[in-house]
Amino acid sequence: MAPIALESPNINENFNDHRDGLALEATSDDIDDVNVLRAAMKVKKGIATQEEQDIYEQSQFDAQKDKTQFRQYEDACDRVKNFYREQHQKQTVAHNLKARNDFKFKTRAEMTIWEAMEKLNTLIDESDPDTSLSQIEHLLQTAEAIRRDGKPRWMQLTGLIHDLGKLLFFFGSDGQWDVVGDTFPVGCAFDPKIIYPGTFEDNPDHSDPIYSTTHGIYTPGCGLDNVMLSWGHDEYLYHVVKDQSTLPDEALAMIRYHSFYPWHREGAYRWMMDDHDKEMLKAVQAFNPYDLYSKSDDMPRAEELKPYYMDLINEYFPKSVLKW
Ligand code: FE
Ligand code: FE
Repeated sequence: MAPIALESPNINENFNDHRDGLALEATSDDIDDVNVLRAAMKVKKGIATQEEQDIYEQSQFDAQKDKTQFRQYEDACDRVKNFYREQHQKQTVAHNLKARNDFKFKTRAEMTIWEAMEKLNTLIDESDPDTSLSQIEHLLQTAEAIRRDGKPRWMQLTGLIHDLGKLLFFFGSDGQWDVVGDTFPVGCAFDPKIIYPGTFEDNPDHSDPIYSTTHGIYTPGCGLDNVMLSWGHDEYLYHVVKDQSTLPDEALAMIRYHSFYPWHREGAYRWMMDDHDKEMLKAVQAFNPYDLYSKSDDMPRAEELKPYYMDLINEYFPKSVLKW
């Protein structure tokens, strides 16, 4: 199928394109670096699963580069610490209720998937091509790595779109802290396996008589569909695509949980899962290496790849123009 002709995106007048997309991306890159580091640490300490070890060995993290990379990662840790301090203070139940309410009653833009990719690209990237990938490059690299491994078409498409929720930064988010970063449930005690767990002390929910208990407002086995995960690009995109695509549950889980590291990597919050979530966890874990470790792959050529991915988009998005 040939790519369809696109009208220009219809974007609401409150769209804030004066925000510093580069700064957001710098934070987001540091967050990824720290997650790569944490995986490497697990391998070094001998506490990684066989699967994690295999992924680590296939990744760009080779022995020669270890020393300098570790130093870079330590610097990245220092930089993200302040980011997480702010995020962990401000991601409250109240904020999350408000963010979801805002989402429900507003349409921020109407555009196609490809337009959203281009929009995100122009908003975020004037970055140095030697050190950092553009948004489209990261999305295409993730998708291409999935395709190269012969994974299903819906999963390739998931790779292509998984970070489009970062548009939220320009749609009136309160800061970087409610767009990027690892996610975690709100409404129950913050698990010590969340990165920098000591930074939750200034979060008002930390001392709330209900939210500070182990299960908080939830019942064990309630299922993640019934849990409020900290608002950010994952949760936002999940809400956008769940009713506007025919993507399978596994794809929606990959989108919704891709930053939920405390759960998919550290093993926290297993008590809230239902049987369906056990299947979803496998899907999310299968997706993660493509997101985290495809960044050193060859640079994809967007214009060459566009016809292939337009077919995929058209297959799973019955209406080409989406409400964002
Ligand atoms: Fe992401
Ligand atoms: Fe990503």
